Amino acid sequence: GDPRWLRMAGLFYDNRVLDPLAQREDKLANFHANTQVPKLIGLARIHELTGDAAKGTAARFFWETVTQHHSYVIGGNADREYFTEPDTIADHITEQTCEHCNTYNMLKLTRHLWSWQPDGALFDYYERAHLNHVMAAQDPSTGGFTYMTPLMTGADRAYSTTKDDAFWCCVGSGMESHAKHGESIFWESGDGTFYVNLYIPADAAWAARKAAVTLETGYPFTPEATLTFTKLRTGTFPVALRVPRWAGGKVQVSVNGKPETPRIERGYAIVTRRWQAGDRIAITLPLDLRIEATPGNAQTVAILRGPLVLAADLGANEQKWERADPALVGGDVL
Ligand SMILES: [Zn+2]
Repeated sequence: GDPRWLRMAGLFYDNRVLDPLAQREDKLANFHANTQVPKLIGLARIHELTGDAAKGTAARFFWETVTQHHSYVIGGNADREYFTEPDTIADHITEQTCEHCNTYNMLKLTRHLWSWQPDGALFDYYERAHLNHVMAAQDPSTGGFTYMTPLMTGADRAYSTTKDDAFWCCVGSGMESHAKHGESIFWESGDGTFYVNLYIPADAAWAARKAAVTLETGYPFTPEATLTFTKLRTGTFPVALRVPRWAGGKVQVSVNGKPETPRIERGYAIVTRRWQAGDRIAITLPLDLRIEATPGNAQTVAILRGPLVLAADLGANEQKWERADPALVGGDVL
């Protein structure tokens, strides 16, 4: 509430980068990518505090243009830390794509935008980047973190060592990211809707209703997720489960084991009823293989299964790959 902080934030306002975004113009090419994302998080916050419409527009347009025209299939962006011309990433599949910090910051920005207006599409991006980039940025055997996640065939990920001789920005954002897996699973809105945005096994207390919930799932390896109200005072409210756009509407919802026809709205399957303790709502999503083209290049494609981007395993970094190239084998591999 002290206006001097707002005046100070104004001193940091970068006209060259931010003015075009407020006009919904993409002039991001050749700007250092991760330097820009926090500026838009800042504008999002100023918009929340002051209602300044242009700052909200800039934050939303930046998110839209980065996720739709500058992002690789794993949700990361930038080649050698820099934005390129929109829809040109197929020409930038290099050994230095997708700095981790960029995605860490894009996820923060996503949370702001969702809080203004719930929309499943925002968490479609969040899930993609979380599962395919953030989760992949740590070496499960050593705990080391990547700076880049290269999409070039055969390029290895260079993990930080666990000695104290590496502490880049992405080591810091990496550590923080792995303490935040539970941060965005459940949400509530002002109208009392209970949202499930990410399908991750979790227990939570829901303070507004003095309730407790459990989410059980093997997703993204298995298609079903079940939410149980383990503690609840009986009441009527909507429960909204995110339906990813890639599901193509092929979603099944059941309540206490009986098929239910949810209302589908803004990327959610919504069931409003009188809920009581012990009630279960389950969702099944189609984990079919599918092909996705790169923005701006229909010939450069990725293969996905549900939210997961498939990759060929070329073995350990230290050994040269000398066997046949991995291949997808099946009756109908798209
Ligand atoms: Zn970084």
